[in-house]
Amino acid sequence: MIPTTDAFVIPPPTLPSLAVHGTAARFPVRRILCVGRNYAAHRREMGGDDRDPPFFFAKPADAAVPADAAGACGVVSYPVMTSELHHEIELVVALGAGGADVSVERALDLVFGYTVGVDLTRRDLQAKLKAKGQPWEAAKGFDASAPLGVVRPATAQGALRGRIWLAVNGVVRQEAHLDDMIWSVAETLAQASRLWRLAPGDLIYTGTPEGVGPLERGDRVTGGVDGVGSIDFTVG
Ligand code: MN
Repeated sequence: MIPTTDAFVIPPPTLPSLAVHGTAARFPVRRILCVGRNYAAHRREMGGDDRDPPFFFAKPADAAVPADAAGACGVVSYPVMTSELHHEIELVVALGAGGADVSVERALDLVFGYTVGVDLTRRDLQAKLKAKGQPWEAAKGFDASAPLGVVRPATAQGALRGRIWLAVNGVVRQEAHLDDMIWSVAETLAQASRLWRLAPGDLIYTGTPEGVGPLERGDRVTGGVDGVGSIDFTVG
């Protein structure tokens, strides 16, 4: 039996969702998985070993800050418990189908579309957690840590190619090419599907290129991925 609203002891949480290009219907967010250190130059700037493969962490679905139809997320509050809030611009994959143990060859069949996301990070707290071998949730999965643009449905063209960039107050801080990713989108999905059964509604942040850095209150953040879209917000 499918429970009705009356079946819950408290009102059920609202389902987070994103705007979709070309339709009024929205993309429902089930969960947010993220890849760490998927660009070699960023792995180096984080002090990583060149032989370490990328890895996964997660943010809760309700960390999403959805953009309006123009890609604007409005004001994103500077979080408490940090004095070093960092930007990480990323290509984000939106899944329209799921599966476990998906092959690299079949992985792109799961993709509904793509969007642009910023993986906001409490970098000072992350450094402390890393030093103690503690989990990253407080550094990565905090409220409003996932500003996200409009989902652009995938075309039949296959793998995306193009520039990924982020600017703060009009000054470009991050600029790279999707070809610079260590794991391709297909490889990332295949890897993730060995760790979790992927499902429609899953969002996967695919990692950030080099040039991450601090944001201050009042900063205007803009970013984009060629062929996918753009995002902008102000740090409040
Ligand atoms: Mn990231």
